[in-house]
Amino acid sequence: MSAKIIDGNKIAEEIKFKVKSELTVLKENNKNTKPVLVAIQVGDNPASRVYIKNQKASCEEIGIEYNLKQLDNSITENDLINETQKICKDPSVTGIILQMPLPPQINAKKVQMLISPDKDVEGISPINLGKLLYSDIKPLVAPCTALSVMECIKSTGEQIKGKEVVIVGHSEIVGKPVCLMLLSSVMESATPTVCHIASKELSYHTKRAEILIVAVGKAGLIKGNMIKEGAIVIDVGINRVPLKDENGNPVIDEKSGKPKMKTVGDVVFDEAVNIAGYITPVPGGTGAVTTSILLQNLLSLYKTQVNS
Ligand code: NAD
Repeated sequence: MSAKIIDGNKIAEEIKFKVKSELTVLKENNKNTKPVLVAIQVGDNPASRVYIKNQKASCEEIGIEYNLKQLDNSITENDLINETQKICKDPSVTGIILQMPLPPQINAKKVQMLISPDKDVEGISPINLGKLLYSDIKPLVAPCTALSVMECIKSTGEQIKGKEVVIVGHSEIVGKPVCLMLLSSVMESATPTVCHIASKELSYHTKRAEILIVAVGKAGLIKGNMIKEGAIVIDVGINRVPLKDENGNPVIDEKSGKPKMKTVGDVVFDEAVNIAGYITPVPGGTGAVTTSILLQNLLSLYKTQVNS
């Protein structure tokens, strides 16, 4: 059996279409305000440069203004806190994203926690995360990657209620919030198990998962024989590994003389695709959906701001 591929690009396009349609109407009815996302970047890390370029393009495509606030790599933690708080208080700003990585003199979590919940486009402020605990309160925004995982699962049309779900990885932006989202309904929750680096016998858990979510960052961690037949497999991992030819030798880039690299997830896709019922590819799976969720979160913040 070959698994059905969960097409993250298609899901992302559908979300973007809905966000754009709703934003267009809101902007038309609120001509004195506009949705503005401010990205704070400290230094000029090449990885965050790529994210910023993609975020800017996605925002502009659907009518959100994107402003980049670039700060010097040597900025002190106090100065960054002051800058962040100043932007938070600016009524013309809809949402704020603090780009990672930050230089070593900055405690990233400390600064992130100061972003007010009503400007927290990444859904990671303590108040927004805390609301995930309640079955009867819908948080205004939630962590983008966790919501992306939920969208990928829902796109299969399969019921989540009562399902055995195993989540591998217990980060604050994926594993933990996904677990809470799966428990968010009083009557229709799944039965999640969360595994992590200290879990014993990982395959004991993964093999019984009807829905398997993997967010670790280790290529090849989940092999085909660790997956239950017909499972929904959501691979969140993003890993860069050397590209190999058919003999297993690294492919060398003629121009640079360096090994060519490719992006893979945490799941051995070629094995899993023959066992799972559904699977997200990497790239083109959850990662593709995550950016569109950022736009959806911004829309939620904008809606609240224009209605307040
Ligand atoms: P993290 O890096 O903060 O933590 C890794 C998690 O994996 C921890 O819970 C750790 O206990 C667990 N872990 C490590 N080794 C393990 C092992 N051998 N067995 C079981 N568990 C193990 O996690 P993160 O920030 O959620 O990132 C995880 C991966 O997801 C990374 O590859 C990251 O690049 C990727 N990611 C993807 C998206 C997306 O949109 N697709 C977004 C964010 C992160």
